[in-house]
Amino acid sequence: MNFQLTEEHQLIRAGVREFCGKFVDPVANEIDQEPRFPSEIVKKLAEQDWLGIPYPAQYGGAGSDYLSYIIVVEELSRSCATTGFTLECHTSLASYPIFKFGTEEQKQKYLVPLCKGDMLGAFALTEAGAGTDAGAATTVAVLDDGEWALNGSKIFISNAPVAGMTIVFAMTDKTKGTKGLSAFIVPAGSPGLKIGRHLNKMGIRGSLTAEVLLQDCRIPKDSLLGQEGQGFRIAMMTLDGGRIGIAAQAVGIAQAALDESIRYAKERVQFGKPIASLQAIQWMIADMATEVEASRFLTYHAAWCCDQDLSYSKEAAMAKLFASETASRQTNRAIQIHGGIGYIKEQKVERLYRDAKITEIYEGTSEVMRMLIAGSLLR
Ligand SMILES: Cc1cc2nc3c(=O)[nH]c(=O)nc-3n(C[C@H](O)[C@H](O)[C@H](O)COP(=O)(O)OP(=O)(O)OC[C@H]3O[C@@H](n4cnc5c(N)ncnc54)[C@H](O)[C@@H]3O)c2cc1C
Repeated sequence: MNFQLTEEHQLIRAGVREFCGKFVDPVANEIDQEPRFPSEIVKKLAEQDWLGIPYPAQYGGAGSDYLSYIIVVEELSRSCATTGFTLECHTSLASYPIFKFGTEEQKQKYLVPLCKGDMLGAFALTEAGAGTDAGAATTVAVLDDGEWALNGSKIFISNAPVAGMTIVFAMTDKTKGTKGLSAFIVPAGSPGLKIGRHLNKMGIRGSLTAEVLLQDCRIPKDSLLGQEGQGFRIAMMTLDGGRIGIAAQAVGIAQAALDESIRYAKERVQFGKPIASLQAIQWMIADMATEVEASRFLTYHAAWCCDQDLSYSKEAAMAKLFASETASRQTNRAIQIHGGIGYIKEQKVERLYRDAKITEIYEGTSEVMRMLIAGSLLR
């Protein structure tokens, strides 16, 4: 067993840190405060070949392993959780289902531009009445005159307003429950596809989150992804991998909270000496560092399982559960260490605190992670 990253992985981390120092750190607060979508950074991510890291070169990807991708998400999120999540949503939620379930034609048409960064992708599963219970979806798809007609609406869809294509889940046979759900590739500009309300969020404020409205939305017959009725399986397999990405986002946020806390504790003087000399502060920092490291190990282990073609559903759930709750705890502690100034806008720890929370919710809540873990142990 080797706990050390390979030289290649260390180089990737160093490369992303350098990139963040130049392009992300200087604008991260602005992205949050305005808020604004970081289009210029996304363009630069494409130039770095980071929009299709784990996919083969033949599809425009970088042909690297999943761990490399996870390290990039972690380091981007350490600077700006919006940027880390934008990449994660694109790579894990939009590109993966096409890579795994798409026909060769679909891969050439969509996966190649997604990996090259010529378009961004989105994933539309959630509806107002169907969140955790994805099988309760009421969006329907029917074959009509040789094309699919989609009707319904999706909510909380990340990247949707800037996406060149969205994976949309719709019922093709309502009588079959989850087995009646199918997945479709819906290109931007399809007739009947509209972007609805943009949602004003607590954290990851630069990320675009919107409703997707489908009013007799017409797409070609060959837009079905995988088989009819395979949508639920496609969604769950996609989310398994995505959860490792969200765990990495959480590790990045938690690491940033620790970095800021160490820096501030050494700087801030009370009672004539830096607060870092106080045992109360030291213990908080020790607990933070230990939990961040444990989260990172769980996350890298899940990515390693994925790279080894081992099952990783439980491992991904454990990583996401622990890392996301760690991020919330560490960002809370970071504010405590900063005292009053930590509560003030424009302080990085204030942003981190708001950014951390979502990692406990999207791509499956902490309650769902516990259900999955228990389910795999007790079956
Ligand atoms: C910023 C943001 C971005 C998002 N991006 C996307 C996206 O790109 N694509 C997409 O499809 N969705 C996206 N989502 C939706 C997200 O995945 C859902 O919000 C999440 O899955 C929870 O669903 P819900 O909000 O309907 O909560 P609910 O399912 O209503 O859950 C409410 C509460 O009940 C609990 N609960 C529900 N069922 C159970 C159960 N069986 N056992 C125990 N507890 C349970 C939950 O854990 C939670 O605490 C996004 C959400 C947000 C906020």
